[in-house]
Amino acid sequence: MLRAVLRIRRDAPVIVYSLACSKGHGFEGWFRDSAAFDAQAADGKLVCPVCNSRKVEKAPMAPAVSGTKAKGASSPDELRKMRQFMTGLRKYVEENAENVGRKFPEEARKIHYGEIEERPIYGEASLEEAKELIEEGVDVAPLPPDLDDAAN
Ligand SMILES: [Zn+2]
Repeated sequence: MLRAVLRIRRDAPVIVYSLACSKGHGFEGWFRDSAAFDAQAADGKLVCPVCNSRKVEKAPMAPAVSGTKAKGASSPDELRKMRQFMTGLRKYVEENAENVGRKFPEEARKIHYGEIEERPIYGEASLEEAKELIEEGVDVAPLPPDLDDAAN
């Protein structure tokens, strides 16, 4: 079973902030807009994924790294960044989209064909169902797995 998300083009663009906790752990946060960041920060909902600190602030933009060493091989740092990226994306989807579970293929189709009002949804689909949706032009994307759960 695949966890999938329906991408709705009309939906507001997502902004990604580089964040850092008071201990200096850097990570990315995904927000609908800057007001959503402010609201979550004010409510103490921003939590460092490394140490669970709630003292989280926007980090200054990291300087662009030029010239990569060891082409092809992912460094532990790159893997960590990728993991943080996927965790951030999953969290964003879970907070901003409705979980329709196994009804995902049905709901995604209804939204695509305008039978029901457009809204961000995510849920489950079999690989076969996901393929059919994509062939019909329904804009679905796989949702990153919960790496934290997988690691436990
Ligand atoms: Zn931290």
